[in-house]
Amino acid sequence: MYIYLLEILKYQQNLKNLVIAIDGPAASGKSTTSKLVAKDLGLLYVDTGAMYRAMTLKVLQSKIYIESEEEISHLAQNTNIRLEQNEDQVKVFLDNKDVSKAIRSQAVTKAVSAVSSIKKVREVMVREQRRMGERGGIVLDGRDIGTIVFPDADLKIFMIADVKERARRRQKDLEIEGENVDIERLVEEIIERDRKDSKRNISPLCKADDAIILDTSNLRITDQVEFIVKKAKEIIAKR
Ligand code: C5P
Repeated sequence: MYIYLLEILKYQQNLKNLVIAIDGPAASGKSTTSKLVAKDLGLLYVDTGAMYRAMTLKVLQSKIYIESEEEISHLAQNTNIRLEQNEDQVKVFLDNKDVSKAIRSQAVTKAVSAVSSIKKVREVMVREQRRMGERGGIVLDGRDIGTIVFPDADLKIFMIADVKERARRRQKDLEIEGENVDIERLVEEIIERDRKDSKRNISPLCKADDAIILDTSNLRITDQVEFIVKKAKEIIAKR
């Protein structure tokens, strides 16, 4: 009985230290999957894309020219972005204002790759992401989590999916937000955003050598979650 309790405590301790990095191209299902993985394992979930989106919203609201690196760098150092997690929702606050819905608009989506390619913006965001994850017990999704933010993450997943399927998912999300966008336009936008995110000089979107590829084109969300949770449990069991 005593040994059994010790095993449970050890398991919980290992779980608390776990860092899971989930990267991948646009609309590959990272956020939905990561949120559910975190919920299942009782970990914190950090949507790093939401942080770059919030920064982009601030740039757009400030009417700063999108290529003005100096002004955007200055703005990034004077911006407060906070993620709040409750049961099923993650809320995003920009300078204490709830912008969870506004950051999903088409205008933000179009401009975000340009803003997130700025060195200072990345420095500020990465510092905050590392601070949130320094004690472990966290699932982060993004583009550079397994390569730059947490290169020593315990589990790295690289999620991919067919571009048509990704566009369909994005179209559904936008419909919920009241925006109707043509599927072909979404395919083009996704390809263009992936191109910009992969070609930038600093922390481009790429698979870490030790990441596991998860193709979600024909998977249900529950299968994706189950796959990652199983991998995480295997890692803990080996310790
Ligand atoms: O994940 P999501 O599609 O919301 O991310 C929006 C954008 O934020 C990406 O297209 C990318 O330009 C940027 N991003 C990034 N690094 C991350 C997460 C997102 O550059 N870790």
